[in-house]
Amino acid sequence: MESNQLLRLQVIRQEEWDGDLDVVLVPAEQDKDLRKPGVKTGELLLIETGNGHHRLLVSLGPKDKVTTDKVGEAGGAAAKWLVKRKVAAAAVQTSSLQELGTEAILESLCEGLLLGAYRFDRHKSKQETEQVTQVYLLALDEVAPLETVTRRVAAVTAGVNLARDLAHEPPNVINPASLAERARALAERDSLKCTLLGEAELGDMGAGAILSVGLGSKTPSQMIILEYPGEPGHEGEAPVIVVGKAITFDTGGYSLKDRTGIVGMKYDKSGGAAVLGIMQAVAALKPAVPVVGVVAAAENMISAEAYRPNDIIRSLSGKTIEIISTDAEGRLVLADALTYAHTHYQPRALIDLATLTGGIVVALGNVRAGLMINNDDLAEELFAAGELKHERLWRMPLDEDYFELIKGDDSDIKNSSGIRQAHPIVGGIFLRQFVPDEVPWAHLDIAGPATTEKDLPYNPKGATGFGVRLVLNYLQHLG
Ligand SMILES: [Zn+2]
Repeated sequence: MESNQLLRLQVIRQEEWDGDLDVVLVPAEQDKDLRKPGVKTGELLLIETGNGHHRLLVSLGPKDKVTTDKVGEAGGAAAKWLVKRKVAAAAVQTSSLQELGTEAILESLCEGLLLGAYRFDRHKSKQETEQVTQVYLLALDEVAPLETVTRRVAAVTAGVNLARDLAHEPPNVINPASLAERARALAERDSLKCTLLGEAELGDMGAGAILSVGLGSKTPSQMIILEYPGEPGHEGEAPVIVVGKAITFDTGGYSLKDRTGIVGMKYDKSGGAAVLGIMQAVAALKPAVPVVGVVAAAENMISAEAYRPNDIIRSLSGKTIEIISTDAEGRLVLADALTYAHTHYQPRALIDLATLTGGIVVALGNVRAGLMINNDDLAEELFAAGELKHERLWRMPLDEDYFELIKGDDSDIKNSSGIRQAHPIVGGIFLRQFVPDEVPWAHLDIAGPATTEKDLPYNPKGATGFGVRLVLNYLQHLG
């Protein structure tokens, strides 16, 4: 379960450090100084400082454009450099950051270091000897305030890296059953309550939507529920519920994807992976409020048992759905998960994360996730958390008018309009049919930023774990 930890952080007092490699983050100056690393954030320059000592200078980018996220990018670049060279120990001068102020800067640096060092190499047969890089943060005076930050960041980034691991795992390793098993092990280790609803339980309760999606798979659908009770004194309060789509592999079913579109569909479990990452971090961070994680897991395959276009299925809510596209399966598993969530709990907020539509990637690219939401206050809080953690959202409309596109002919609802108009919004308006208006609900369509095709400073190529830091930041600010 533990992800490959190639870099560790520790806080020590400045005078305790006697190693020979210092890392210093520097804002870029206008003048071309050969003793400076360059203007682009994350550019590096190693200089000798005498007696076998070296200093790794990391550019923060132009001085007037330094943001907390740029500091994270610089941390990510430094981490990659250190890990690649198997450096045993290095120290980061935090004094250079103190003129930038704020704890958020330091937090971002630590996040960049721990996220930038990530790699997913457990299936490579070449067993290199691994060197864990110990990075010391040098405190000018008290160690304790810095330690509070590094402890928090270690929990958050371990959550992100777990989400990345689970999203990266191939479909012959992670299916609904093995994902449920991993969730159970996590819950046992971290003292969370875990409920697994398999084929029999889902059938008994009438969760026909999530079950239908998994009919073509050898491994039936699973609903995974993890619960954190809140701080003492907060037990029994209305929880925040985070729901994740985990299609462990999406062939599209009989609405089959083509040979290029199907590759990478292991990442269709990124929303569910993020929820498990969030719950692991919640167990460590212990926010005040109760938090429930619900993962809707299914594998969308083809077989004689698989569901078909034109099937009319009955969801857990009682509403009937005609299948127009078996490739619009994410909204089906989520429909039952959302129904389960608001009927078993009275959530103070219900947030779903899903790689739901290609349409949102057409609209927003990999830069922002789509936010579809029925509550302006929650919209503001989530938007702000996204800006702070650089997991950015953009609000899409959710007018009831869009429902016309999926109004049922022979059923209550269709799962797809069959046309391309307003694709991501149709996904949102479909989900809205399964959440009462009085429940503050947010749908995050993370299909764009859940993965990256190129290495970014602290997001190596592949799964990014998008949403984990955003949701944890939102939870941290709830009383
Ligand atoms: Zn699909």
